[in-house]
Amino acid sequence: MNGIDSAFDRGHIWHPYTSISNPLPVYPVAGARGVHIELADGRTLIDGMSSWWAAIHGYNHPELNRAVREQLERMSHVMFGGFTHEPAVNLAKQLVAITPEPLDRVFFCDSGSVSVEVALKMAIQYWESLMQPRKKKMLTVRSGYHGDTFGAMSVCDPETGMHGLFRGVLPEQYFAEAPRCGFRDSWREEYIEDLHVQLECHADNIAAVIIEPVVQGAGGMRFYSPYYLRRLRELCDRYGVLLIFDEVATGFGRTGKLFALEHAGVVPDILCVGKALTGGYMTLAATLTTAAVAETVCSGDAGVFMHGPTFMANPLACAVACASIRLLLDSGWQDAVYRIERQLESGLEPCRAYPGVADVRVLGAIGVVELERPVDMGSIQKQFVARGVWVRPFGRLVYLMPPFIIDEGELGTLTSAVCDVVRESSAAF
Ligand code: PLP
Repeated sequence: MNGIDSAFDRGHIWHPYTSISNPLPVYPVAGARGVHIELADGRTLIDGMSSWWAAIHGYNHPELNRAVREQLERMSHVMFGGFTHEPAVNLAKQLVAITPEPLDRVFFCDSGSVSVEVALKMAIQYWESLMQPRKKKMLTVRSGYHGDTFGAMSVCDPETGMHGLFRGVLPEQYFAEAPRCGFRDSWREEYIEDLHVQLECHADNIAAVIIEPVVQGAGGMRFYSPYYLRRLRELCDRYGVLLIFDEVATGFGRTGKLFALEHAGVVPDILCVGKALTGGYMTLAATLTTAAVAETVCSGDAGVFMHGPTFMANPLACAVACASIRLLLDSGWQDAVYRIERQLESGLEPCRAYPGVADVRVLGAIGVVELERPVDMGSIQKQFVARGVWVRPFGRLVYLMPPFIIDEGELGTLTSAVCDVVRESSAAF
């Protein structure tokens, strides 16, 4: 028997998006090391998820462990109101150095969702300061995902994003059609026509456009043309609205560039990062903006930016984030992601031929098999675990985004498992 009281877990603890009275099975984990997750019953799984885009260096990394330990000996936390500390300053310097100019003002926050809330609030305060109080709404595209707090939820896809459930409480935003140009498609102006029309009609009420650059993650794992972002930047400038890029999922190398915005060579006014920021060790996110936006935000009646969470810039999280960024930059990550990309392409290719498969697509260290029908999560999860891998599909999507340290053999085990499970489930179509 392991020491984890699974019965208590089942009866008392909510897991993400689950029912407390009819919970899905969860697997007790005893430890994790490298790309391996060790279950309490002694089985070991190869991780294909990087714990939802975060654990890019794998688990239990000696350098990241050391960074946490050393910081722990100095101070685990101190309030950020009225104090500052070395890990926060060092991390802000690193973030400013690795993101494009002129993004050089940094707000630290607790999670990806909160970084989005902060971005939305910055945009609203910006226009308030410029005496344009009508500009309070956001424009975004369908199939997006930006988090589960209210502001973030309001800019998630209106159908899959729980809007119905929270109607009347969620702020109402403007939605344009999702980008429908594939990553490598040649550009046609019609791809952005709907968004263009929305800007034309509603710019007086719109504070900002918010979008996940190049990859729409949890809203559908869709990849779209970087050219869309170039046109979007031009349109935002033309119609006088701010541009927010949410790189919470795509940041830190996942798409083959350090930030997905580099595919387009476009700089937003506000940038959200999170998830892999700490190498998946701790929850931490940041919202970056330009001096011009930051100073305007603080020039209004309030005189300050109105946000300040208790655990802002937690020193442990900042210290491990500094170590994670250093490790990433020193690791030859681009070669690793390129190698993963090639192997995902060849390894998932057989799925194209299976009935019930709508599409197979790969970008950077993200491989997606889109099915025609939703998976049965409970049973498909068991099939993956039986094959010694951790893959957690959602909706119609079976996907891999492994830690960058994965080797060829381990990745081969992951892609073979996906092919086998998809083939077996496709037999049911
Ligand atoms: N933004 C994007 C693009 C995300 O993918 C996510 C989470 O999946 C979030 C925001 C929310 O981040 P968190 O779950 O850390 O609140």
